[in-house]
Amino acid sequence: MSHDVVIVGGGAMGSSTAYHLMKADPSLSVVVIEKDSTYAHASTVLSDGNVRIQFNLEENIRISQHTMDVLRTFADDMSTATFRPEIGARHQGNLFLADEAHRESALEGLELQRELACDVLWLDSSEIEERFPGLELVGIVGGTLGIDDGSVDPGAVLRGYRNKAIELGAHYLEDEVVAVSEAGGRVTGVHLRSGSDLIAPMVFVAAGAWSADLVRPLGVDLPIVPTMRTVYVVSTTVETAGMPSLFLPSGVYALPESDRTWVMAWSRPEDPIGFDFTPAGRRRFTDVIWPELLRNVPVFDSLEVRTSWAGLYDVNTLDGNAIIGEWPTIGGLLLATGFSGHGFQQCPAVGRYLAEHILGRSPTIDLARLGGERILDNEPLYEHEGRLI
Ligand SMILES: Cc1cc2nc3c(=O)[nH]c(=O)nc-3n(C[C@H](O)[C@H](O)[C@H](O)COP(=O)(O)OP(=O)(O)OC[C@H]3O[C@@H](n4cnc5c(N)ncnc54)[C@H](O)[C@@H]3O)c2cc1C
Repeated sequence: MSHDVVIVGGGAMGSSTAYHLMKADPSLSVVVIEKDSTYAHASTVLSDGNVRIQFNLEENIRISQHTMDVLRTFADDMSTATFRPEIGARHQGNLFLADEAHRESALEGLELQRELACDVLWLDSSEIEERFPGLELVGIVGGTLGIDDGSVDPGAVLRGYRNKAIELGAHYLEDEVVAVSEAGGRVTGVHLRSGSDLIAPMVFVAAGAWSADLVRPLGVDLPIVPTMRTVYVVSTTVETAGMPSLFLPSGVYALPESDRTWVMAWSRPEDPIGFDFTPAGRRRFTDVIWPELLRNVPVFDSLEVRTSWAGLYDVNTLDGNAIIGEWPTIGGLLLATGFSGHGFQQCPAVGRYLAEHILGRSPTIDLARLGGERILDNEPLYEHEGRLI
């Protein structure tokens, strides 16, 4: 069967792009192939749903500004006849703590964020302790607080885009793409596990951490590795009400949920690579993450791990940033992968950007620097050198 666009993977990226395409031109034939409609292992639903303005690259900041605008009216805009996506937005603020070694890069990021009119404050450590009573800090000189940063339910955002895209005419098919077909330097469609072939001049591989394996047979060698991250749900004695999400200089983070329960994690170089979804044990929390947390925030000295889950980061080992757009050497092959832990919040702008590209329109936010050229030229575009959040 022939289509205008085939999208491989119906997670946040695939579904946002399907929505933007159908909204722009309802006459398009867009088919989204999703191998698991329960999304049990999709990174989108396993993510923390954190959204922040605090990035150090202009593109990432502009992307988040758009996300925050979109999320404000998301439930209304994405309502269908049968579904209203309640995304449960909370604006608890993200507080990125800086020690002496990280002060300069924190202030550099802040300068750019302010140039772009973002609501971010620098607080020194005594101001932090005053503003958030109970938060005693050690080895911290200050931190940046993003006032509008916060979290939403990522599953609701995914369902919102998916259901709206379907209402507008996109077709979702539960199947697995086993190969992307190509002839003469252009994609021609995809081959499905069920045996059928779909023909299309544009194939968007939105397969998250599975993307690199899918495009490798085409000679596209992406520096992306599926990396397991375990997230811990922890009962503590530290009040959650009124507290911001805490990001330590090491990359350890603690997100306040409710009733003194926090969600905590830390990306480490030794995180397992592959497609295993068994969470790392509690020892990893007590032996590795907890001591690092206590070094800066000793008030977390009494806690208990309640549960944990694991999902995949699509880690871009070149620079920790996404690879977005048409691959330079294969016509019609679109990618959006390598988000390295900050992709959920980028789905509104990335979906719009790819739809604009497919439709030959100029981009509302120019993401060309995040394209594949830098991968081929081996020129990293760092957000945070050496640190994934
Ligand atoms: C533990 C954790 C916490 C995170 N926290 C945050 C956060 O707080 N904020 C943030 O912005 N980001 C966060 N992220 C990152 C974020 O989840 C991802 O960057 C984002 O969801 C990627 O979306 P996606 O659509 O590209 O991938 P996915 O959501 O993984 O979707 C890809 C889909 O493709 C399907 N698929 C794969 N291969 C095939 C195939 N061959 N055929 C058909 N279908 C296929 C899969 O089944 C899947 O549903 C987190 C990630 C993890 C793991």
